[in-house]
Amino acid sequence: MKIEARAKINLSLDVLGTRPDGYHEILSVMQPLELHDILVVRALEKEIRVESDHPEVPEGPGNIVYRAAMAVRREYGRGGGAGIFIHKKIPVAAGLAGGSADAAAALGALNRLWGLGAALEDLIRLGETIGSDVPFCLLGRTALVGGKGEVLTPLPPFSGFGVVLVKPPFGVSTAEIYSLYDSFPAGPGPDTGAVVRALEKRDLNTLAALMGNVLEKVTASLHPEITEIKRSLMAAGAAGALMSGSGPTVFGLCASPADARMVASRLKLPGCRVIVTSTL
Ligand code: ATP
Repeated sequence: MKIEARAKINLSLDVLGTRPDGYHEILSVMQPLELHDILVVRALEKEIRVESDHPEVPEGPGNIVYRAAMAVRREYGRGGGAGIFIHKKIPVAAGLAGGSADAAAALGALNRLWGLGAALEDLIRLGETIGSDVPFCLLGRTALVGGKGEVLTPLPPFSGFGVVLVKPPFGVSTAEIYSLYDSFPAGPGPDTGAVVRALEKRDLNTLAALMGNVLEKVTASLHPEITEIKRSLMAAGAAGALMSGSGPTVFGLCASPADARMVASRLKLPGCRVIVTSTL
């Protein structure tokens, strides 16, 4: 069985507060991308085996996909073994939810492979225990995401726009960025309601002007390159540019995939990985 695990970007990201359990309460408009990893899943007798073609992705128990498979076995008390190979295309530790996307894809695949008959809502509840972005990745469509990632309100698809992803030559730890966020002076967050309204109208320029991510200044304080990349994307003709998630990837939003290719061709950012993709 071959399945696609889609990357995401955050068109807006606000932090509303810290919960008693230590997690941050977020409010974010999340958008799936065409960019995806491919998981190849096959039945094994007993063993859970997770492998990948990417040197920075752990194999075996360190992989979030392994933890997802174990969680399914625990929850349903059945299921045999499975071999899962991850062809990694989504940059790692990049703010694009690559690990969460793989975990969500694995939950869906194992549900089928082991004939568990779990409904999407059941998988979303289980996904919540594996990683904050897993519920959104299971939903697989544009959504307003609240709570610590488990409160999902589907939005109309915002498909067909071009996206230029720029991944600097370093990763960041999501946990570190959130904990640094707490020591930053609170500033105004994005107007999430206005972002949603622009998205519903497919009004690219208004949306691009309203996009905001409260974690951007935190990651940029460690890596000023973030601000440079945003400037370069805008100078190259993107309608808007923003850091995704906790970063460090910055995306440029464009009217079409052809526009995104043109923007990408104008960039001169040595050391950065540039990927052209589109919204789904
Ligand atoms: P998010 O946007 O959800 O915060 P991210 O894109 O910043 O996620 P990931 O690519 O999910 O980050 O990787 C975070 C870390 O998780 C990596 O450094 C890697 O060691 C580990 N990891 C475990 N399993 C995977 C996987 N299947 N794919 C990628 N990374 C994985």
